[in-house]
Amino acid sequence: MSSARFSSGVAACLLTVIAHGAEPLAGAALDEARALRARALADDTAYELVRSLTTEVGPRLAGSPGDAAAVAWALDKLKALGFSNVRAEPVTVPRWIRGEARAEITAPWLQTLAVAALGGSVATPAEGIEAEVVPVTTLEELKAQPRERIAGRIVFFTARMQPSLDGGGYETTVPPRGTGAAESAKLGAVAMVMRSAGTSVSRTPHTGAQRYVDGIPPIPAFALSNPDADMLEQQLASGRPVRLKLSNTSRWDGEAQSANVIGEIPGRSHQQEVIVLGAHLDSWDLGTGAHDDATGVGIIAAAAKLIGESKRRPKRTIRVVFYANEEFGLSGAKAYATAYKDQIDQHVLGLESDLGAFRPYGVAARVAPDKLPLVRTIQSVLEPLGVPYLGTEASGGADVGQLRKLGMPVMDLQTDAGPYFDLHHTANDTFDKVDPRLVQLNVAAFTVIAYLAAEAEGGFGRLPVASETAQ
Ligand SMILES: [Zn+2]
Repeated sequence: MSSARFSSGVAACLLTVIAHGAEPLAGAALDEARALRARALADDTAYELVRSLTTEVGPRLAGSPGDAAAVAWALDKLKALGFSNVRAEPVTVPRWIRGEARAEITAPWLQTLAVAALGGSVATPAEGIEAEVVPVTTLEELKAQPRERIAGRIVFFTARMQPSLDGGGYETTVPPRGTGAAESAKLGAVAMVMRSAGTSVSRTPHTGAQRYVDGIPPIPAFALSNPDADMLEQQLASGRPVRLKLSNTSRWDGEAQSANVIGEIPGRSHQQEVIVLGAHLDSWDLGTGAHDDATGVGIIAAAAKLIGESKRRPKRTIRVVFYANEEFGLSGAKAYATAYKDQIDQHVLGLESDLGAFRPYGVAARVAPDKLPLVRTIQSVLEPLGVPYLGTEASGGADVGQLRKLGMPVMDLQTDAGPYFDLHHTANDTFDKVDPRLVQLNVAAFTVIAYLAAEAEGGFGRLPVASETAQ
């Protein structure tokens, strides 16, 4: 802090407050956070990064040439933006190559459907698979079916995701995507199709990861767009047997090397203590991963860069982590958690941007209970952005949440998940959907939180270590 900026009276008053330990953030820090907020709202660094990553690199499926290009891109950009300790930490990722997927209804009435193979799906035989369709709503309903109703047939999961502000509908419709094919195979099904776990009303299916279980022969797995799932349901409503013909040429191709790309804005005094800002560098391959998660990459990099340009650098280091392979098994997050396990106590707070760049509507914090007043102070600087305090339901997100399980406190900026899940994992997730003003709003919120978290006296305490293993 520059004492010249304050009258001696104000400085004495602040010293008194700090001496009593009443306020972990000095008035000068709050002033600087407000100034950074204003700068972020006029800064286009993040939007330019999103444009560059989606245009010059494109889709970034783990283990693909685009993924490798993204790692090189990230190293270049972080260096060019003035980050310190820029590095790529190797991560081994699975490599799955999408082929071509087709689906058509062959009875009672012919109809060609818009479909995508789910990530990790095996291929069909070259001649395809044709069989009768059995609809079920949930995994539980499937598991209750007698084997003879499922064996030799194609299971169709019909549950529809309802749009919502917090994306809660995703959690309830996504389970069949993960294990629907494996559970169907246990009952002898020959393939699985699902209504997309997403809310697009276009004929654009939402892909996503699915996994098989050892010991059960894998069957092909597909997502239908919502309008195509509607068409299939219309035919089922006729009461006549409905048959689907499916083909798919995707395949597994071993493993590949990717990397977590990391850059830092060193703190002015407590350099070993870090505030982690996370986003993932990989994406699905149908679009260019604009909102999932190029915007996250842009938002956290721009927030850290703005803090680095501050004349009043915070005490702690801001560490930006672009995680490898979030989409297909959290490879980068698990590798980071393993590599930094011994330094977990120096990870003071984590934040993740992985819900696109949509309107922020609140902030939640999972910190030690006695640190909640500090969170309320930070939130007061977010108030002009329309970001109220929402409570303690914070996860840290898929990647940063791996560190929360080891005891690191987290804050979540909650953003409107409605439009996000229209685009998520579809061919429509492209740069034209990114609104520069909303990107700036997100950068402003991240900048404020990261700056004040890096400056706050005493930090945020620790969370109980979760007993469950990383998933
Ligand atoms: Zn994502």
